[in-house]
Amino acid sequence: MTNTIVNWVSGALVNSTSGQQLPVYNPATGVVTGQVQLASHADVNAAVASAKAAFPAWSNLSPLRRSRVLNKFLALLNEHRDDLARLITAEHGKVFSDAQGEVMRGIEIVEFACGAPQLLKTDFSDQVSTNIDNWTLRQPLGVVTGITPFNFPVMVPMWMFPLALATGNTFVLKPSPIDPSPSLFMAKLLKQAGLPDGVFNVVQGDKEAVNALLEHPDVEAISFVGSTPIANHIYEIGARHGKRVQALGGAKNHLVVMPDADMDQVVDALMGAAYGSAGERCMAVSVAVFVGENTAEQVLPKLIERTRALKVLNGTNNDAEMGPIVSRAAHQRITGYIEQGVAEGATLLVDGRGFDGEAAGEGCGDGFWMGGTLFDHVTRDMRIYKEEIFGPVLACVRVKDFAEAVALINDHEFGNGVSCYTRDGHVAREFGRRIQVGMVGINVPIPVPMAWHGFGGWKKSLFGDMHAYGEEGVRFYTKQKSIMQRWPQATAKGAEFAMPTSH
Ligand code: NAD
Repeated sequence: MTNTIVNWVSGALVNSTSGQQLPVYNPATGVVTGQVQLASHADVNAAVASAKAAFPAWSNLSPLRRSRVLNKFLALLNEHRDDLARLITAEHGKVFSDAQGEVMRGIEIVEFACGAPQLLKTDFSDQVSTNIDNWTLRQPLGVVTGITPFNFPVMVPMWMFPLALATGNTFVLKPSPIDPSPSLFMAKLLKQAGLPDGVFNVVQGDKEAVNALLEHPDVEAISFVGSTPIANHIYEIGARHGKRVQALGGAKNHLVVMPDADMDQVVDALMGAAYGSAGERCMAVSVAVFVGENTAEQVLPKLIERTRALKVLNGTNNDAEMGPIVSRAAHQRITGYIEQGVAEGATLLVDGRGFDGEAAGEGCGDGFWMGGTLFDHVTRDMRIYKEEIFGPVLACVRVKDFAEAVALINDHEFGNGVSCYTRDGHVAREFGRRIQVGMVGINVPIPVPMAWHGFGGWKKSLFGDMHAYGEEGVRFYTKQKSIMQRWPQATAKGAEFAMPTSH
């Protein structure tokens, strides 16, 4: 029996009026498990109206009372985190332990958002002039929206709505239609936690729902995470409609291997960072950069062996290291890139195409299966180097020295994450300072910042000024107001026509 995934408006499940829907698959088996209804323009209007109506009361609550609701949500999330992880594995396909990790990283943002009273504390200057004080408020924006990708159906929405709600905004989430079920699960938990109806809404769908949100006069801000062309589009259209926009885009993350690195650690790092979650992470490592004469030779034999032995299984299997690709379309795109790499003259060391789905477990034959792929002798002019593949494909590039590695990465149009493996503190420090990338790991393959540090790339990996979550997230979801105040004794002085100065 398939299940129908609908919108969530004013604290209730609501059918879409468009009459259109898309199938939702279990990528491991290829079986359709649900139908997601696509929101129409009218459905988006209803969700925004509900969020707008809820805003005055919610924004006027004390931050402490808002954070108490989030605290209850946090307790419910902890109670149900495996239920959420199971939903992720069923619709995204990622390995269950990885899905649990995703939920945990989302929970950390909720924990951070629970500190809203402290986060919203501002500056106060006493006696800036005689009898005058000046202080700052950070006030919520109003109705804000989050448009999220398929690859983190729980964590990425949680980069957004916990802080948006904690700071007093009301929210409309537009999740990916590929794995939409967790959005409704979170909505129900929020209601159970005591969140007033209308403060959090979900519209399902794709382009039409997004366009309706982008142009809606009552939407004040848009947080988007997805591919670079769409991020660019969202930023331009949103900004043209006068909205605050934060649009996180695609990536091509390099891991630099210096000749002095611990090569066993490098192999482990590359395996996990390239093939974990089938390479469908915006922080996945898709390029290994070997520095110096014999560095590649120390890593590649083990890497080949390990890539061939990768346990590609249904994500519900405890032994699984990698699950299926998310969709048939993604599978075709990744296959096309592998063909392209061969045609461009890269050396195909391990070919993930033609993986036998039945090897992934009973009933998996029609799933979207693929093994890990490893290319060597990839050069900077090849499409498999320049473009984001977003699959389990690792490209190895060789450079003569550290300076060439830095120049290569700095020339790339993406700048999301990067990593450097070395035992040399000076090299590590120089790398951190010189590299033109937003998130840097030193002997850390996937340097996703913690909840209070903020997440975001540079260059074509982020359009907008502020990073997601952390203190920048608080800034993004609030506007600053400066208040200067004087009481009667001073006003008795009469009008002042010269520019006020301190006296
Ligand atoms: P996507 O760009 O296809 O979709 C993202 C969202 O945009 C979805 O909600 C989708 O429904 C919507 N959308 C798709 N096409 C649209 C259109 N033409 N107009 C308006 N909206 C549209 O991305 P995806 O395939 O779901 O996710 C993978 C991408 O997300 C990768 O490029 C990955 O690097 C990126 N990503 C980036 C980060 C980051 O933090 N930088 C994090 C996660 C994922």
